[in-house]
Amino acid sequence: MSHEHRRPAQDRTSAPTQSPDAARLPLLSDCGNCFGLCCVALPFARSADFALDKEAGRPCPNLQADFRCGVHQELRQRGFSGCTVFECFGAGQKISQVTFQGQDWRTAPETARPMFDAFAVMRQLHELLWYLTEAVALPAARPLRDELRAALEKTERLTLGTAEELAGLDVPAHRGEVNTLLLRVGELVRAKVPGRKKDRRGADLMGARLTGADLKGANLRGAYLIAADLRGADLRSADMIGADLRDADLRGADLTGSIFLTQAQVNAARGDAATRLPRGLRRPAHW
Ligand code: SF4
Repeated sequence: MSHEHRRPAQDRTSAPTQSPDAARLPLLSDCGNCFGLCCVALPFARSADFALDKEAGRPCPNLQADFRCGVHQELRQRGFSGCTVFECFGAGQKISQVTFQGQDWRTAPETARPMFDAFAVMRQLHELLWYLTEAVALPAARPLRDELRAALEKTERLTLGTAEELAGLDVPAHRGEVNTLLLRVGELVRAKVPGRKKDRRGADLMGARLTGADLKGANLRGAYLIAADLRGADLRSADMIGADLRDADLRGADLTGSIFLTQAQVNAARGDAATRLPRGLRRPAHW
C-alpha cells in the first residue's frame, strides 16, 4: 500500500534452484505492477493509522490515475502510517498481472468487484506461500520436506485459478491444513535450540518489559506483543507466526533465524539500525 517498492514482477511457479530469499521475492509487494488494489479494495476507518474513512471498493482519494500514491513521500506525516505497514505478500501484482492479465478495474469497471474479491483470497494464499517457502528451505524441517513441498505446490496451484475459482475457495480449510504443518516445523526448529525455551503461544504480552530478554527459540505464535519493550532481546530461532508486533520496540533486538516473521509484522514494529532481521526481510524506511 505504501507504493514504496517497485521491482519487476516475477513468475515463481517453479524455481527449484532459487535461494530461499530469491524464492520469496515475488511474495513481497510490487506496487509498480499492481492496480492499487489495497488502496481501493480495503476499507479504512479514520484512526491513528488512517486520516480518513473509506469504504471497501472505493478508491482512496490519494490514488492517482496511474495507480500510484500521490502522497507516497509523506504518508506518515499526513496520517497514513497504516499504508506504510500493510503488506500484500505479492497478491496485488499476481491478481493484476496473472489473474486479470493486465486488465485494470478503471478501464474495465465490470472487473472491479471480482478483482477485489479475488485479491482478498489471494493475499491469504500468498501469506501461506510466504511461510511454506521459508519452511521448505529450513534444514531443521527436513523430515517434513515432502509434505511441505506438496502443500507449497497445492497452494501455488490454487493461486493460478480464475477469479471465480479463487472466490469460491474454502480458504480457512486450506489454511488449517497448512497451519498444522507449520506448527510441526516450528517444533522442529525450536528443538534444535539448546536449553529451556519459553512457551508464550498466544500470550498477552502487551506493553511487557522484555528488554534484553532471552527469548531464543521461544514459541511466540500469536502472542500479543503490542508496544512490548523488546529492546536488545534475543529472539533468535523464535517462532513468530502471527505475533502482533504493533509498536513493539525492537531496537537492538536480534531476530536472526527467527521463523515465520513477515514484512507486515516488521513494518508495524519500531526498530533501528542495530535490529537484526532474518534474511529476506527489508528494514522499513521509517525505522
Ligand atoms: S494514501 Fe491512499 S493511495 Fe496512498 S498508499 Fe495509502 S491507500 Fe494507497
